[in-house]
Amino acid sequence: MDWAQVFASRQSRMKASEIRELLKLLDQPDIISFAGGIPDPALFPTDAFSEAFADIFSTAEGQQALQYSVSEGYKPLREWLAQQMGEIGIPCDLDNILITSGSQQALDYLGKLFLSPNDTALVTWPTYMGALGAFNAYEPHYDRLDPASNRTADDYRATAEAKGGAVKFAYASVDFANPTGMTMDRRERQGLLDLSEALDIPFIEDAAYQSLRYDGEPQPSVLAMEIEKRGTIEDCRTIYCGSFSKTLAPGLRVGWVVAAKEVIQRLVLIKQASDLHSASLNQIAINRVARATFGKQVDLIRKTYSARRDHMLAALEREMPDNVSWTRPEGGMFIWVTLPQDIDGADLLAESLKTEKVAFVPGRAFYADSANGNGIRLSFSCALPDKIDEGIGRLGRVIRQTSAQ
Ligand code: PMP
Repeated sequence: MDWAQVFASRQSRMKASEIRELLKLLDQPDIISFAGGIPDPALFPTDAFSEAFADIFSTAEGQQALQYSVSEGYKPLREWLAQQMGEIGIPCDLDNILITSGSQQALDYLGKLFLSPNDTALVTWPTYMGALGAFNAYEPHYDRLDPASNRTADDYRATAEAKGGAVKFAYASVDFANPTGMTMDRRERQGLLDLSEALDIPFIEDAAYQSLRYDGEPQPSVLAMEIEKRGTIEDCRTIYCGSFSKTLAPGLRVGWVVAAKEVIQRLVLIKQASDLHSASLNQIAINRVARATFGKQVDLIRKTYSARRDHMLAALEREMPDNVSWTRPEGGMFIWVTLPQDIDGADLLAESLKTEKVAFVPGRAFYADSANGNGIRLSFSCALPDKIDEGIGRLGRVIRQTSAQ
């Protein structure tokens, strides 16, 4: 069977990355890895989940947990989320909230909702590679979303039209972004809103890391800023995507979208056609654990990750050569290191795995045009202090060796 001739055109952009091939080597025990963008499993609230699951099955909720349910999501969880959203300046009703299977599913659905082939999505350079992966299935083009640029809405429109479509949305992670760790300030957030308004397009706010702030000036959510201006979420163009993956449990795949009802109603239809609803049991468990421990859990994560961030920043200061720079994130899980122009992150990874046995994610895959190769992403979420010291020391060595060649 010649499978390739029957695959849909949308499949052509879905490729296994060579980086993933390299990262398979990570199973070797002597490798120190800063590659995985995952939360530290040692911090998962396993006791709280164990109690929640036992409780669920000791009551009539056990049957509900195993039954089909509504596409919008488990009502008590949406109620808890509505209250949480209210506390960060996003007053909303239950009808403004859809539970999704992780925020990754929300990105897929938003691609499906807005993008026809050849339309343009505006994304930052670099951006979350999983968002590019989700949007790619809808065959868009990408243009660079840059709050500092002086391109006008007409410039963006003309570029999109020349590619045979229209600008359909802007997407950004504005808090402790994956991969850079960077946070946009209020002025930059306003710039995103102004541009979205000038283009009359939605703005997708990826809030996956929003609650993981360790220090610095708290910034309002983009949706909160817009509600402040317009008075009600129904008049807002921002679509907020939240997730329990970085705070409670990524494996349960529970995230949520908050937006004007008209958007949520559309997403509900997409969800009905896609998977009917997110797992009832997981939503019920997340609701119980969130109500019991969310604040405490976030405090624990903040304390642990911020110490790891500080440790990694100190190690970089000590070990990196002068021609290397890096970001100083106020939260999240990542530091972005900029190498000298002539060093490609993927080449450095190959060399580094061979000679120094230290791993990270090369930056090229985070660029919609794959153009910039000299950035690398380091994750500190799972890194213990002695591994950080040893691993960053090795990284410094391999960069020096590569620069000297
Ligand atoms: N957005 C960003 C910026 C992420 O880094 C991730 C996970 N790595 C996601 C969304 C998706 O997370 P989940 O589907 O687990 O909620």
